Amino acid sequence: MLRGYVLRRYAAPVSQPLWSAETVAVVSGRPAPAPDAPVNPPIVPASTFHAGGPYGYAREWSPTSEALEDAIGALEQGSAVTFSSGMAAANAILDLLPPGAVVVAPSSAYTGVAVRLRELAGIGRIALRIIEVDDTDAVVDACSGADLLWIESPTNPLLQEADLPACIGAAHASGARVVVDNTFATPVLQQPLTMGADLVLHSVTKALSGHSDLLMGAVVARDPELAEQVRGRRVLLGAAPSAFDCYLALRGLRTLAIRIERSQENARLLTGRLVDHPAVSRVRYPGWGSIASIELHGGAEAADQLCSTVRLWIHATSLGGVESLLERRRRWPLESDVVPESLVRLSFGIEAAEDLWQDLSSALDALS
Ligand SMILES: *Cc1c(COP(=O)(O)O)cnc(C)c1O
Repeated sequence: MLRGYVLRRYAAPVSQPLWSAETVAVVSGRPAPAPDAPVNPPIVPASTFHAGGPYGYAREWSPTSEALEDAIGALEQGSAVTFSSGMAAANAILDLLPPGAVVVAPSSAYTGVAVRLRELAGIGRIALRIIEVDDTDAVVDACSGADLLWIESPTNPLLQEADLPACIGAAHASGARVVVDNTFATPVLQQPLTMGADLVLHSVTKALSGHSDLLMGAVVARDPELAEQVRGRRVLLGAAPSAFDCYLALRGLRTLAIRIERSQENARLLTGRLVDHPAVSRVRYPGWGSIASIELHGGAEAADQLCSTVRLWIHATSLGGVESLLERRRRWPLESDVVPESLVRLSFGIEAAEDLWQDLSSALDALS
């Protein structure tokens, strides 16, 4: 019964798409049209497949993850491979590096990635050069003789922005590959592969799936052959996502553009008001996207009080979901010490802006 529409490789479109990201998010990763074929791909929870077809074994290929990979690849304009988490995806990229490879990376990056890079440097597996992504000259200098430039823009949680074309150009001039963690921006707002990046990393856990109900990662490569090397890492490291999670992620991805539009609107409006709040000493927001950070005059204590006083905002880690979340990043012992103690990261959701403001501003008003 499944034959005809499921046992078909979803073509990974690497050329310029005909439609904008809003449309691609809705139409990509669908089964081929046929009478009575489902409009969206069904969940196929199989570990193994009858021999002779394209799938074989689900650690390598499976129809449900392939549909999601088709969609993420179409949005980023490359070939995507999904993983069981963003960290699994990050480690697959690092696993491709030769021993002793020189990696250029941001001073404040996603904590898990930053800690892992330091760990690998500590055992001599890689050599690490730390840069500020918004200091383009420093990035250009550090790229000389490097093997990989690892970049986030905007960075987590300081929201520093990189000049991506300049950084990518410098890396390529030195023969280094470039990976851009595009989790914060999403392909709706920024497509690094179109600026020349070799790889894009996503924590699909965040905005791409958008509902805080699964863990997943993705790597998207501009070159399909590099994507196959990345898939080879997934196969050997064993970090494949489940069919159920792929189904949920694709379902969430359908509304990506409209969620980003709304959460970005909330972020713009409320960061504009936060700058004028007397309890707030600094607002970090690049003017776009759904994530911002604020610092408070009252230090870590005021930040903790804010997080425990809000009622609509949720005090929790993570970001990119339909619900607004906030947390003091330095509550985590492994967070970089370049992150101020009083910094509270805000992930704007899609609730009504005035409800979010009422909750946040009254919690800020209450800080003594
Ligand atoms: C969450 C996150 C990751 C790690 O992804 P997981 O799905 O939690 O493993 C990597 N990079 C960024 C920017 C993130 O926010």
